[in-house]
This record gives sequence, C-alpha cells and structure tokens, in this order.
Amino acid sequence: MVGKKSKGKSRILRKGEPRKLKSKTFKRVFVRTPGGRTVVHFKKRKPNKARCARCGKMLHGVPRERPYKMRNMAKTKKRPTRPFGGYYCGACMREIIKEKVRT
Ligand SMILES: [Zn+2]
Repeated sequence: MVGKKSKGKSRILRKGEPRKLKSKTFKRVFVRTPGGRTVVHFKKRKPNKARCARCGKMLHGVPRERPYKMRNMAKTKKRPTRPFGGYYCGACMREIIKEKVRT
C-alpha cells in the first residue's frame, strides 16, 4: 500500500474551515442554537484601529471590521466625510490645508 497511515483520531475538515482552532488567532464566540445548545464558534480577530498617516493618532469614525464586513458597509460609515477623512486626523488635516493655502 502506498501512502502514509493515519495515526489516532482524525477530524474531518470542511471546506474553508481553519485547521488550528485552539490558537489565539481565533476569537471564541458562544452561540446559542435553536435547539437550546450552546456551541463555540471561532471567529477571526478584528484588524487594528486605523491611524493618522502623519501623527499616528487613532482615527475616529473608522470602523474596525474585517474586509467582508467593510464591503457591505456604506461609504459614509467607513470614514468621516471631509477632505482626507480616514487618512489624516482632524488636527493634521487642518494644518495641511493651511500650509497648502499659504504657499
Ligand atoms: Zn494626525
């Protein structure tokens, strides 16, 4: 017989299911099923908060979500609707605009 023998119990992996679920990469979410059982669902963690490109401050009004959730979100919910919104913080934007006007 060709091929390696499987040792011990092997778990059936479904398509798109991550292999290592017990690692800290995944967040545990307790979900109550319609039958009344509580099961553990593993979710990938959220990305880091958006930061200002100039001073590095955390940006307000920018959600911390995975790309699949960001895709279905409205454009106005993803960043402030002002020039450089979601890229520079409010203070940096003000200074940059002043500099550009003065020169
Ligand atoms: Zn800034």
